[in-house]
Amino acid sequence: MTLIADLGLIGISFLCLFHMESELEQLPQKAREKHAENKKFFAKLKKRPPKDLDYTMQELHLAEFERTDCLSCANCCKTTGPLFTNADIERIAKHFKMKPSEFIDRYLKVDEDNDYVLQQVPCTFLGTDNYCSIYEVRPKACREFPHTDRKKFQQISSLTLKNVAICPAAFNIVEEMKKRIFK
Ligand code: SF4
Ligand code: SF4
Repeated sequence: MTLIADLGLIGISFLCLFHMESELEQLPQKAREKHAENKKFFAKLKKRPPKDLDYTMQELHLAEFERTDCLSCANCCKTTGPLFTNADIERIAKHFKMKPSEFIDRYLKVDEDNDYVLQQVPCTFLGTDNYCSIYEVRPKACREFPHTDRKKFQQISSLTLKNVAICPAAFNIVEEMKKRIFK
């Protein structure tokens, strides 16, 4: 590849990062503006979930993550941490060749719901390049975030109402849902 082409790619990556930064800055305000509308939509969805909702969510989720580059975002890792299940703790501690209790003491605390969460955000395991240093063994909650492809999506509407203020992909998926369902 020529230097010009390399510089072109660097330019495109820089533009993507810049675009994502400004999108993330505006996201909480955009989510606040949509909150009442989203709440109403999810109340209706809970009462009358369409038969093909699981299928629709798969489709919307895949289409959105074709467009969204999580590596230029990482807002979930920077602003909110995952819950760590016992299986997560055992797996990640083993990866570090630590005892689960040592891992807990070093990285975790118990929150008000009695769940293990990170002692601090941004997540300790997030690199400056937005890569997760424990990607292969990361918590289940990280693998599944923002949960937009899960079955019976109507059951996690309260969580999704919060996630649209954190995750630009979740925000876009909910906007698409509103266009597709109950038109
Ligand atoms: S899941 Fe959402 S918040 Fe997390 S990195 Fe991807 S787009 Fe950003
Ligand atoms: S463990 Fe990895 S994926 Fe999960 S919050 Fe930390 S950096 Fe992000």
